Amino acid sequence: MLDADYIIVGAGTAGCVLADRLTACGRFTVLVLEAGPSDRHLPIQVPIGYGMSFYNPAVNWMYRTEPEPALANRSGYWPRGKVLGGSGSINAMVHVQGQPDDVADWASAGDSGWSKEALSGCIDRVRQRIEGNDVSRDTHPLCATFIAAGQQAGFPVEADLSRLGADGVGHFRIATRKGLRLSSARAYLRPAMRRSNLAVEVEAHATRVGFDGLRAREVQFSQKGRARLARARREVILCAGSINSPKLLQLSGIGPGAMLKARGIDVLCERNGVGLNLQDHLCIDHLYRSRVPTLNQQFGSISGKIVAGLRYLLFRNGPLALSVNQAGGFVRSRPGLAAPNMQLYFSPLSYTRTPPGTRPLMRPDSFPGFLLSAQPCRPTSRGFLEIASADPAVPPRIVPNSLSTEQDVAELIEGARLLRQLAATPALRGVIDSELMPGPSIQSDTELLSDIRQRASTVYHPVSTCRMGHDRNTDVVDPGLRVHGVEGLRVVDASIFPSIPSGNTNAPTLMVAEKAADLILGESGLQ
Ligand SMILES: Cc1cc2nc3c(=O)[nH]c(=O)nc-3n(C[C@H](O)[C@H](O)[C@H](O)COP(=O)(O)OP(=O)(O)OC[C@H]3O[C@@H](n4cnc5c(N)ncnc54)[C@H](O)[C@@H]3O)c2cc1C
Repeated sequence: MLDADYIIVGAGTAGCVLADRLTACGRFTVLVLEAGPSDRHLPIQVPIGYGMSFYNPAVNWMYRTEPEPALANRSGYWPRGKVLGGSGSINAMVHVQGQPDDVADWASAGDSGWSKEALSGCIDRVRQRIEGNDVSRDTHPLCATFIAAGQQAGFPVEADLSRLGADGVGHFRIATRKGLRLSSARAYLRPAMRRSNLAVEVEAHATRVGFDGLRAREVQFSQKGRARLARARREVILCAGSINSPKLLQLSGIGPGAMLKARGIDVLCERNGVGLNLQDHLCIDHLYRSRVPTLNQQFGSISGKIVAGLRYLLFRNGPLALSVNQAGGFVRSRPGLAAPNMQLYFSPLSYTRTPPGTRPLMRPDSFPGFLLSAQPCRPTSRGFLEIASADPAVPPRIVPNSLSTEQDVAELIEGARLLRQLAATPALRGVIDSELMPGPSIQSDTELLSDIRQRASTVYHPVSTCRMGHDRNTDVVDPGLRVHGVEGLRVVDASIFPSIPSGNTNAPTLMVAEKAADLILGESGLQ
């Protein structure tokens, strides 16, 4: 049996930060249990390897949602990282802080320690480890065309899209260093693994938290087919992410009572909020055939691949060192808004999405193509997830309830219209051969909505399924991120967000983990 002061379940974006911070003082021992393997694989480290991890079950939980009535009964594909670094090891690396008001309601859900002023120190500490890397010199020339189109549509140029309060169009900054992905595994966990008070077990799938009365004492896990046990002297900290943290709570008897009983699980502590409040960003892509070559040509030809490969090997730059999302922005889709309400993405390549499992990686289309995409920043639809079985190996039922509010429907149609407005600017008109999807025949709001229902998809930002708040009926953790109603158990990951931030969720997750470390160390008088 293993033991440690703190057991961290999940070495993802948040778990790696905590593992580092809790071991740095030397006073505590920490054991990290990670279900996936090591991240020492080229497709994880080389940024463009994103396309290879996307459908790779060796490093990806590859979840599916229930069929969504508002999305033409499609079942959404929800990749999540299952590897050291978690989703931060398979994500698109776009590094943004979002808008200052993203955390406006966090102080009331938490306490004054969660106000934007109080969190600024955590943001600064994240910046010391992981900063958005300016790769604008290396991006495809069409990114400049997109930015010019944004200006012609009336948006300002934003020199730093990763700054808090970014407003306008520009190049995304990405979480890389020296041409390699900079996940929290690389930035926090690897250096900390030199410490003797940190142990990391990979391929260790936590199946249940065990309790003495109402105090969390141990984690049961399976490793290489063996059932194992780890005991926590101080606390168990779930960092398993927005899908698996609520799943693990439910498997451990913490969740909606009737649902748990129906699955044959003894109720330890009835908490209706576990798995509720699921929020996510939904996005619509418009696909264009280009008159000028895009990355499709570079990645689609042997000579292009050789040039890109040599550039990467010799100089650690070029398309292999970049995200697929090279430019974008935070803009207003209608006048009179105090802050941007729409995130834009520009990808100088296109790939027709096929169902997972039908091919091992995302492959660029054979014609010159690019994608323009729009994603409303603050969706109001709320979904839920619940275990489908008491068997930990069975994936949960994920019910996003996408487009279940009129506001979300209206904003996504506005997003689609905005993409059309950008495509109609002189800058983009000069390079567009034709609109392939949705296609010129789709014009009215009804037609645009029908296209959205057929094609819109997640941008992989599920949050808030173990929401922080004071209400024990609907919230799961208190402002100290302790699970309401039990002792010795916290949740620290994107599932605790009181509400979804405007932009990509990795940097806010890093911020939450830094905050959690302050709280935990502060309780021991060490902060
Ligand atoms: C394809 C994709 C693209 C994305 N692109 C971006 C982007 O460009 N920019 C951005 O900011 N955000 C992006 N995101 C979102 C961002 O990566 C996540 O919000 C963030 O990583 C969440 O961190 P987390 O710590 O909550 O969970 P995760 O990083 O997912 O970590 C959870 C960890 O827990 C482990 N785990 C789960 N269950 C168990 C268990 N039972 N036992 C042991 N271990 C377990 C998992 O294997 C994983 O390692 C993307 C996500 C995906 C999937």
